Amino acid sequence: MTDRFTTARERMVQEQLLQRGISDTRVLDAMNEVPRHLFVEDAQQVRAYGDHPLPISGDQTISQPLVVAAMTQELQLGGDERVLEIGTGSGYQAAVLSRLCSRVYTVERINFLLAGARKVFDQLRYYNILSRLDDGTLGWQEHAPYDAIIVTAGGPEIPAPLIDQLADPGRMIIPVGERELQELQLLTKKDGKIEVSRLESVRFVSLIGEHGWEND
Ligand code: SAH
Repeated sequence: MTDRFTTARERMVQEQLLQRGISDTRVLDAMNEVPRHLFVEDAQQVRAYGDHPLPISGDQTISQPLVVAAMTQELQLGGDERVLEIGTGSGYQAAVLSRLCSRVYTVERINFLLAGARKVFDQLRYYNILSRLDDGTLGWQEHAPYDAIIVTAGGPEIPAPLIDQLADPGRMIIPVGERELQELQLLTKKDGKIEVSRLESVRFVSLIGEHGWEND
């Protein structure tokens, strides 16, 4: 897609992602394709391709491009997977995933954020994204199991329902820790065995719900 941000988007991919270790060409292509500026408010559009997180409404944020790319790359998507995302927010992460797998199921607890994201999905005709208003710490049982799960808000632990709803084999990436600082954890399920590895430190907004923090 060509638009007034095409050059900014190409530079983002080159300088922030490729040159800093993102090597999965499918992920790089997806981030070159998805118009990140459409997921933020008009006043933020000129900053949309910068090397930082961006505010969306309701005190929430879209992650920095490098964090979106790194988390997506950890899922090792080949194209046929069904992926569950918790924390739709602006919809940007779901949009990137939708270019890389067969279907994205995304859950958000704040109604007006979900409504905004749905509008952009329709505008872009990203029809393989299904979304739902709910407490995502409970997962989305109806469509389980999922080949991959990504949680884009930070909780005190990995919600048990998400582990149950992950397919075998399956991969889940999630920030876990304190309210102000977390570490990315990669959980893999294979032959009935679950392993968790710890990746870099990150700062996400709070995962709020039955298997998350109690309130904002
Ligand atoms: N992936 C988003 C980032 C959103 S920020 C993007 O690309 O823009 C994290 C989001 O998680 C917020 O919108 C917040 O409302 C949501 N959230 C927090 N706890 C949640 C829960 N239990 N279920 C679903 N969404 C939740």
